[in-house]
Amino acid sequence: MPEIVLEAKNLKKVYNYGTENAFEALHDINFQVYEGEFIGIMGPSGSGKSTFINNISTIDMPTSGTVMINGTSVKTMSANQIGHFRYENLGFIFQDFNLLDTHTMFENIAMPLSLAHVEKSVIRSRVEELAEHMQISHLLNKFPNECSGGQRQRAAICRALVNNPRIIVADEPTGNLDSVNSAELMKIFQDLNENSGVTIVMVSHDPLITSYSSRLIYIKDGNIESILEKGDLSQDEYFKMIVDINSAESREILQQ
Ligand code: ADP
Repeated sequence: MPEIVLEAKNLKKVYNYGTENAFEALHDINFQVYEGEFIGIMGPSGSGKSTFINNISTIDMPTSGTVMINGTSVKTMSANQIGHFRYENLGFIFQDFNLLDTHTMFENIAMPLSLAHVEKSVIRSRVEELAEHMQISHLLNKFPNECSGGQRQRAAICRALVNNPRIIVADEPTGNLDSVNSAELMKIFQDLNENSGVTIVMVSHDPLITSYSSRLIYIKDGNIESILEKGDLSQDEYFKMIVDINSAESREILQQ
């Protein structure tokens, strides 16, 4: 049985807790991510997908309940331990890439290693190796605003991978990509997941993108409403099930 790498127990998130604007975005979530899984997360806009992914990956802290990472409760970890854990285990990819425009592509990719004071020659060879793999070697001295969206996204992927993370957390990673670059990113994720055993947790509104996952959770109004397993299904069969879940939801909204 694979190990549980991330776990939410009775996870509740209330924004503006204790004020008259308090809003409960996640109600009582229980979920486990096993090592080597590729989890897709879907649900209507505003249902709590980003809140969920942020809370299980130390970007944000739950209002109540517990998040366990590799068996340790995040609550019991110091800020230093959390930072260390992130550096050792997590790679983040977001829709808007979050590259710093004042730094070159090289410096952006190198950032997690520079912050961890890794030796310069080690940083250089790791960044160059990844950049070559992502076909952006020729752009390393350029600034992000001199590069295309697809090229910036590749740099963001390099930055997420530079520390050899065991877990990739991605929130709408193809949101700013065209279909060719999106498919390419999914091939990269699939390769990392199947051949390097990297665990992936990814939010996307696109059934084609989430059909690359091995398990899909559908979040609605702050609850996990359903869970699909790819199991032995072909990607095409799995894709159709994912489309069905989403269109049932759309029909429900239309009938209201
Ligand atoms: P999704 O990712 O599914 O679109 P989010 O997790 O971003 O949904 O948001 C869930 C709900 O929580 C939404 O109603 C949103 O308006 C609210 N929310 C998100 N972030 C904040 C915040 N920082 N402060 C107050 N409310 C928030």
